[in-house]
Order: sequence, then structure tokens, then C-alpha cells
Amino acid sequence: MARNDDRTNKRWDGRKSEPGTKGSDKLKQRSEARTKPGGSIKSGPVKGAAGQTRAASAEDVRAGDRIVVTIKRLGINGEGVGYYKRKAVFVAGALPGEVVKAKVTKAEAGYLTAELAEIEKRSPDRQTPPCAVYEQCGGCQLQHMKYEAQLEAKEEIVRESFRRYAGLEELPIRPILGMDEPWGYRNKAQLQTGRHGDDIVTGLYEAGSHRLVDISGCAIQHPAVNEVIDGVKRVLKELDIPIYNERKREGAVRTIVARVGRASGSVQLTLITAVDKLPDARRLIQRIRAELPQVTTIAQNVNKSKSPLIFGDKTTVLWGEEMLNETLGDVRFSLSPRAFFQLNPEQTVKLYNAAKEAAALDGDELVVDAYCGSGTIGLWLAPHAREVRGIELIPEAVQDARDNARASGIDNARFYEGRAEQLLPEWVKQGIRPDVVVVDPPRTGCEPQLLQAVLQAKPKRFVYVSCNPSTLAKDVKTLLGGGYRLEWVQPVDMFPHTVHVECVIGMQRIDT
Ligand code: SAH
Repeated sequence: MARNDDRTNKRWDGRKSEPGTKGSDKLKQRSEARTKPGGSIKSGPVKGAAGQTRAASAEDVRAGDRIVVTIKRLGINGEGVGYYKRKAVFVAGALPGEVVKAKVTKAEAGYLTAELAEIEKRSPDRQTPPCAVYEQCGGCQLQHMKYEAQLEAKEEIVRESFRRYAGLEELPIRPILGMDEPWGYRNKAQLQTGRHGDDIVTGLYEAGSHRLVDISGCAIQHPAVNEVIDGVKRVLKELDIPIYNERKREGAVRTIVARVGRASGSVQLTLITAVDKLPDARRLIQRIRAELPQVTTIAQNVNKSKSPLIFGDKTTVLWGEEMLNETLGDVRFSLSPRAFFQLNPEQTVKLYNAAKEAAALDGDELVVDAYCGSGTIGLWLAPHAREVRGIELIPEAVQDARDNARASGIDNARFYEGRAEQLLPEWVKQGIRPDVVVVDPPRTGCEPQLLQAVLQAKPKRFVYVSCNPSTLAKDVKTLLGGGYRLEWVQPVDMFPHTVHVECVIGMQRIDT
């Protein structure tokens, strides 16, 4: 789930997963629709005077043609999906139930993409996006849809994935767990800094461009995070600290990262600089401490590289606590400035509780937590199991997992550095037989070798926590063919107003 974090900075890029949905195109399409209300459509397949189509079949449709499409559902990138003569059409900004006029932008063998030109029949679920920079920012994809409808659409995305990739028509899906208050949920902001004239701006780069969109006061961020970002901006301006200029590659402060500990309200602040020495550091620290007493750590990370990665290798705490303390349920976390932590703690608890239910532990099990990150799921389950073994690729995360276990007084969880698809088969060969295997892989899903190892190890239960319904469904299909039954699918809305949807599924071995 560190994945979502990275994406926020690199922007949503769905190109790999479903055709016709470039992030940047999507944004262009939406703004186009806005600037051309009721734009006139003069020619094209559906626009003969008598309303006849010029194109005899979908294969005759070309880029530039205008078509009318009834939108059936949302695609995995938040675009409206309909059909034109049985060919799928992706229309960014259109909602299920709407009838729209759209201009074809790309005609491929299997699908069309089209730009929304005019809404002929409007969905009752459409709303004016509450955020002023929704179109430009791209961090959210569903603000033009009411929250209740977003939740329904996400359930449908999950159903569609299982239909398409697992061949399951009847899915044992539970109602999605949404948020009562779906704003202010994000505990961390990582904002690029720049200058527009005299002003310092902090925000995200518009997809596919070098234009920084200011997202001060972003409504999905925790208010404490917004306050600190604004305060730091004021102090940087007051002290005239050089802001990094991406084009000229000069200046000092590149990125401001602020993370709030929900339990304490404390904020961990990291300034990412393009130079080793933060100019005027002493005064900067003084002023931040005076202005923002909620800040308990001021750290500096140096990133001189051109790469889009946010953090460089070197982090120094300039003032305050080394770690930010956070708790989730009974599990305690000590987070260093770079340590990964779930972005929406309130929903994370729901997600992990679903995983616990799926694991159905009675206290005597050996649980493997594969792709364990900083050990959160394993630590959630450890008090209910005999032993937990976590597997994680990144050494720092393994260390964090061990530290978190210690901080939480959990002594039956061990964490191993390595690839899940290598370690689990080795363990199975050594005769280690987990009773329950939990996986929480990146968007690409589980490696085939890992799934094979699960089929060999024959745990009585298999729990899959997923941030990508398509790869989830494909992997579930493998297990369905290998002696497992799907008990239920629980979608959880971890990121309201974005198109992301997380799921927990529980599978049971048929012969147990
Ligand atoms: N379960 C954790 C983190 C899940 S994110 C949580 O809930 O917070 C997925 C994690 O899998 C990342 O930490 C990533 O570093 C790790 N990872 C990616 N590929 C892996 C592999 N092949 N084997 C083990 N871990 C892997």
C-alpha cells in the first residue's frame, strides 16, 4: 500500500491496466467538457440530420468522429464506460447512467476513447466537485460523483473484475465499508514546492506537465497537515529561503512532507532539499517551532537526483523527536520520517479487522504474512495466533516490522527479508506448513511461484488483501482451480474521491 503514496506524487497512471485511459488525456477531456457546455456536434456517425449514423459499424469509426454513448459503468480509472455498436468506449468524466455526446480521440481494434462534449442525460449522482483544483490536480478522480454513488461504483468495479478475470458471475461480495466523514482522512502530504511570482506554492505537478498545481487546504488531507504545510510556506517566504526550481535545477527546498500522528496530533515535518546544507536552518527551525507547536520533528532529507522519487537516501533529524508515535488498535508504531505507514488509519482498522475475520484464528495457527511491509497485518493477527512469520523485500521495512513488534510487546512474530515467492517455497520444502497465509502484494498481484507454493503448502485458509481488483481476481482464479473456495469479498474504501478500492477476501480449503 506504499503504492498509493507513490502514486500521489507521480500521478495516477492507469495505462498499464486498462486501455484508453491516460491520466493526462482524462484531465484534458474533462476540462474540455467544461469549457464547451452544450458544444455543437455537426458531423459524425450519429449526427446526420435525421439522426442516422454514417458509420456502418464500430470498425468504421475514426478519431474525430462524434458519437452518442450510454454510460454503463465506471472503468478502473474512473472514466465512464459505454458501448458503441458493441465496441467499448471510454469517456473520461462521464458517469454511469448518463447519455453523452463524445468526440472519438482514438479508435483501436478493441476499443474507442472519446472526449466528453455534452451531457444529454445527466446522472442524478453528478455533483459539482467540491475542490477548486479538481480538474488540474488529478489526485482525485471521482469528486464529480456523490459519495454514496462512488461507493456503489467501486463495488461494481470489483464485481466486474471478478466477472472478467475470474469468470465469477455470482460474487459473494459484502457491502463496501465506506467512511461516515469521507474528508480530511489522509495523514500525510508530500508536496512539491515552487514559486509563482513572489508566492511559494506547494502542490502536485499536473499530469504529464511541469505545472505545479497548488493544493493548499486540500480537503482530503487531515487539517493538521494542511495547517503545517501553510505555516511552513509562510516561514519559508518570510526568511526568503531559496525554493528549488525544477527547470533551472537551482534552489534548496524541493518538497515538504508532513505526517500527523492521529492519536497524538503531533506532526512530523521533513524538508527535502536539493542541496546538502539547508540555508538559514537555525532561524528556520526557530520560526517553525514558534509558529507551529504541533510539529514534534523537523527533519531534512537530501535528494539531488533528477528522478521523480520523493526521498533521497540521507535523512537527518534537525530538531525534535527521532520518531513519530502512532497506534492502530493495540499495535504501536514508531515511525521514522521515511517509514511507510497507512495513509488512512481509520479505514485501515476496518481493513485489518476484515483480514482478521478471514483468518478466523483460534490461537494455535502458524500464520505467514507475505508482502508484510512494516508488519502491520502480522502484528494485528499475532495476539490471536501461535506464531506469525512475515516476509518483506525491503530491509528497512523488515527492521521497522521488528521494531513495531517490540514496541507493541509482541514476541510471537518474526520477520524475514526476502522475496515471498522464494521464501515460502523454501519453507514448504523444509516442511514448514502454515495454517493461514495472508498476502498483501503490490498492484501487480502475487507472483505465480507464490501461488504455487500456497497450493503446495495447503493452508486451511488464504487471506488476500488487495489494492487492485483485476490482479486479485486473476490470482483468486488460480486458487479456485487448486482446491480453494471463495468465502467472501469485502471491499473497503481507503481513499474516498479517488478511484482506488481495496478488498479483503477469505478463501477456505475445500478438503478441510
Ligand atoms: N502489508 C503491508 C504492506 C503492503 S505493501 C501493510 O499493510 O502495510 C506491499 C509490500 O510488499 C511492500 O512493502 C513491498 O516492499 C513488498 N514487496 C513487493 N514485492 C515483494 C516480494 N516479491 N516479496 C516480498 N515483499 C514484496
